[in-house]
Amino acid sequence: MERLKYERPLIKKLESQMPNKYGLRTEYKPMTEIDGVLIKDLIKDFGSPLFVISEKKIRQNYRRAQKAFTTRYPKVQFAWSYKTNYIGAVCNVFHQEGSWAEVVSGFEFRKALDLGVSGRNIIFNGPDKTEADLVMAVQNDALIHIDHLDELYSLTEIATQMGKRPRVAIRVNMDTGIFPMWDRFGFNYENGQAWDALNKIMHANKLDLEGLHCHIGTFILQPSAYGVATQKLVDLAMGLKRKFGHAIKYIDLGGGFASGNTLKGAFLPGADTNPTFDDYAEIITSALLNSELPPSDMPALILESGRALIDDAGFLISSVIANKRSSKGKRVTILDAGVNILFTSFWYNHKVTPAQEFTGFTEDTTLYGPLCMNIDVIREEVTLPLMNKGDQIVIHHVGAYNMTQWMQFITLRPAVVLIDLNGKAELIREGEKNENVTSMERIPSHLNRI
Ligand SMILES: *Cc1c(COP(=O)(O)O)cnc(C)c1O
Repeated sequence: MERLKYERPLIKKLESQMPNKYGLRTEYKPMTEIDGVLIKDLIKDFGSPLFVISEKKIRQNYRRAQKAFTTRYPKVQFAWSYKTNYIGAVCNVFHQEGSWAEVVSGFEFRKALDLGVSGRNIIFNGPDKTEADLVMAVQNDALIHIDHLDELYSLTEIATQMGKRPRVAIRVNMDTGIFPMWDRFGFNYENGQAWDALNKIMHANKLDLEGLHCHIGTFILQPSAYGVATQKLVDLAMGLKRKFGHAIKYIDLGGGFASGNTLKGAFLPGADTNPTFDDYAEIITSALLNSELPPSDMPALILESGRALIDDAGFLISSVIANKRSSKGKRVTILDAGVNILFTSFWYNHKVTPAQEFTGFTEDTTLYGPLCMNIDVIREEVTLPLMNKGDQIVIHHVGAYNMTQWMQFITLRPAVVLIDLNGKAELIREGEKNENVTSMERIPSHLNRI
């Protein structure tokens, strides 16, 4: 018989969980498998901590989003935001579903080309495009979204030198009623910068102006902001039509749809209360359909949704290293996954569930990561059943931004596994080893010996 674990007795106040209109809290129901694969097996085969991505969930999300827009508007195109998660296998799931690539650096651009995306289906955003990046984008017939006048002038020059007409849009920022207003990307609408840039492009006649773009923010909880953004882009499109007789081919509303995560400070779980793809689609497509745009040249609608398409397809499995009591007597559980690989725990209360059965007793717990840093907190306060050293916990909604913003700090980055549609666990990124990090270092000869 296995020896029972000893838990030091402790007298504590009982915390009664009051049911609200959504019922009792269910945050700590056990989750023993992901898409039919046992979590214990995943940890045995790939180690802990471990990122797990559900291919099924990505495809479901994508199809739901696609349907929300295509049932309301005839010409819709999604472009996968690489910076949200650019692991090759993940990008290719989106590309197989029909998504283009949305990139914001030369690195991401090359990555999309290497994965086999046609240059014509790459959207190049971002404020930092080097001359070499611009030349690469022009050669590959990509859609270049111009961020500022310096870029406009260098691109015009490059176009002249290459004897090619680059396909471009301008990036527009604007007041949509969202605070804080993002006014750092592109040209401002209200003060006339955007209209000025469009005039410069049309008069110079060196670039093919195909579209208008905006990216108004991220995790936008008011769909109405997209209605305002759409109207303002339509207004610019109408201006081009009136003045130059020029019809743009697309309007690109960027990303920013909220995922099902719960922002810190929110009372109810985000998965229950945040807007859905249908909510966003209704506002955006109505603004287009009801506008003065002539029906003969309605622009295509491009969407660069990132986090809303992948957050809930990503899980982080972590193991309990130890339990402690804080100086105030509060239960503290130390996990082997910290903020170095879970950047998003700074602004979300990630849902966490134990990965094994447990007893009925629960306690308010703080979840720490393994780093030697006071800020390494996964959850400040979460009600959890008792977990012991070696038990696993599943952290939910981690698919967006963690596998790109993670850092190699104190410890190595873990493996990433994709559960495919047949329930097979495929390794899609190896866990880092010491030599991955040290192979980039050089030791000068006088420091060779110690
Ligand atoms: C980051 C980014 C996106 C994706 O944003 P989400 O908030 O993840 O949907 C889309 N477009 C641009 C230009 C971006 O910078």
